Amino acid sequence: MSVIINSAADWKHILSNLKSNKNIGFVPTMGALHEGHLSLVDKCAVENDITVVSIFVNPTQFNDPNDLKNYPRNFQYDQKLLDTHNVDYIFYPDYKEIYHDNYRYKVQEIEFSKKLCGASREGHFDGVLTVVMKLLNIIEPNNAYFGEKDYQQYLLIDGMTKSFFMKTKIIPCQTVRSKDGLAHSSRNELLTPEQREIAPLFAKLLKSNLSVEEIKNELNKSDFKVDYIEDIGGRRFGAVWLGKVRLIDNVELKRN
Ligand code: AMP
Repeated sequence: MSVIINSAADWKHILSNLKSNKNIGFVPTMGALHEGHLSLVDKCAVENDITVVSIFVNPTQFNDPNDLKNYPRNFQYDQKLLDTHNVDYIFYPDYKEIYHDNYRYKVQEIEFSKKLCGASREGHFDGVLTVVMKLLNIIEPNNAYFGEKDYQQYLLIDGMTKSFFMKTKIIPCQTVRSKDGLAHSSRNELLTPEQREIAPLFAKLLKSNLSVEEIKNELNKSDFKVDYIEDIGGRRFGAVWLGKVRLIDNVELKRN
């Protein structure tokens, strides 16, 4: 059974009683867990002595109040899943525990965070970096696991830990997809059956040999609304809307 911890003080108490040679691995999540999250958890459990998973829907990274309100939450279900995946501790704080400063202090990256998802979601990465900095400072893990599905987020977090000389090593984990190619995401739960059926076209086009413009045209012919499709640093990044649901994905570009 995973032990549930609600406060930083409780975790620090446990930490002070752990042997210093124990490796701590950490997987931060916003819950509504799926196979993508579980692949991070399993890798973490294999590579560390102690696995900590956090579940915290971080309000400061949502620029749209409706998106925050509708974000799927199911703690009991998540807890049961984690119990069967060798998780030692679940860190499950409330807003006040994390933001006792009322978000007066924040971490900001000023270049890459303004591109791709940052261009249309103002302040999104300030919220992400701030919450991850807080969580890493609380948990003090040796290793922290992040999905390549959110590749821009992974790069920014990796950069932050290096910029601030933090001790945690950031470990990227491959994107886990459904059989039809759609990347697992908590937001997929919000798709209608019709939207779910056409959603895999997004990943299929990203992986194709078509140009960025051709992909945009193909997506616009269907029910998608394109936020961006862009090639940066040998990767192709994309974000699209299907109705009210925003999906993101990215693939490594093939070298010819
Ligand atoms: P979230 O709960 O959406 O904040 O995601 C928590 C972590 O799981 C992040 O590091 C995500 O990149 C990662 N993640 C989410 N979906 C996937 C997926 N399909 N494959 C791999 N990692 C994922």
